[in-house]
Amino acid sequence: MRRALITGITGQDGSYLAEFLLSKGYKVYGLRRRTSTPNYENLEAVKDDIEWLSGDLTDLASLIGAVHLSEPHEVYNLAAQSFVETSWPQPLLTGQITALGVTNLLEAVRIVQPTARFYQASSSEMFGKVVETPQKETTPFYPRSPYGASKVYGHWITVNYRESFDMFACSGILFNHESPRRGIEFVTRKVTDAVARIKLGVQDKLRMGNLEAKRDWGFAGDYVKAMWLMLQQEAAEDYVIATGETRTVRELLQIAFHYVGLNYEDYVTIDPKLFRPAEVDLLLGDCHKAKTKLGWKPEVSFEEMIRMMVDSDLRKVEWEIKKRPRPLAVH
Ligand code: NDP
Ligand code: GDP
Repeated sequence: MRRALITGITGQDGSYLAEFLLSKGYKVYGLRRRTSTPNYENLEAVKDDIEWLSGDLTDLASLIGAVHLSEPHEVYNLAAQSFVETSWPQPLLTGQITALGVTNLLEAVRIVQPTARFYQASSSEMFGKVVETPQKETTPFYPRSPYGASKVYGHWITVNYRESFDMFACSGILFNHESPRRGIEFVTRKVTDAVARIKLGVQDKLRMGNLEAKRDWGFAGDYVKAMWLMLQQEAAEDYVIATGETRTVRELLQIAFHYVGLNYEDYVTIDPKLFRPAEVDLLLGDCHKAKTKLGWKPEVSFEEMIRMMVDSDLRKVEWEIKKRPRPLAVH
């Protein structure tokens, strides 16, 4: 039976990847860090099928222990401080987890299980202030945030371990990907959650930042399959994973509000506080290499994904409204 170790398993991608690998018959080991309140919401369906290991990307000893206990054939490093906006007020923490954390895990693998295949979650944020469009594997990086800079470090240290120690280590340069499991702070989920609340009458306004930023948004469920495919190849290489279509945040608003019969202009206000110190204006990926070498392509369209997210948020908000305590009757 093949064994996989996933860091960041409680997050969006980790949960889809865990379900995918379990469906392929893998034994899945999940690294979880200690939290005050357990958060298995994304893993409700499969949490009892996962072998849980305790650890943190900033703690090398815990990673050595996790690799030792799981003896993995494949290691997927999905853990990160993953929110761009938080990386300005918390640049050092972001660097410790999202940059140096990658070296910690690579070291644990090199020391304990050097034959394991290693996947690093690189990001289109590395392209930042893009120097060419569309962006592909050879496009130079120009990160625009402490998050982007940390991901550039994580990317190159992965390449370096491949070239220095002959490890099977590769990076997927994934463009933004979303789902009903996306964190609420990211723009797609912030919008679909607000659309549901406005439609159901429990919110009346939505404060937004830069509506002109463009992103190449795909569906997370499609993207985790590409991660697995990368580790099944003869040689370790890096791949861009994207849809090849870009949309503005404004288009996202139009589509999401229109789906429930509303006009976003009646609800959205612009809050200058939500603009970033440095913006990534345009991301558009060219995934030709993944299509030809991995046989991968995106399946879910942007509109389908946004509808799926709005539907899911409508269900969540309806449930929240139902379980609210009723006001006491006044006699
Ligand atoms: P999430 O934010 O949903 O998940 C992040 C995960 O990392 C969580 O499981 C979190 O655990 C864990 N984590 C955070 N800090 C640590 C730490 N110090 N030690 C161990 N675990 C930690 O991210 P996504 O699933 O969206 O993304 C997965 C990866 O892909 C990330 O590396 C992200 O930066 C990268 N990426 C994502 C893209 C996207 O559009 N989604 C695009 C390109 C790259 P906890 O539950 O305890 O908080
Ligand atoms: P990112 O590409 O990893 O930074 O993903 P996000 O979903 O956080 O942001 C995508 C884009 O949406 C960025 O260009 C943001 O500036 C823009 N944006 C506009 N308004 C908002 C907002 O209210 N929240 C977030 N998170 N992003 C916003």
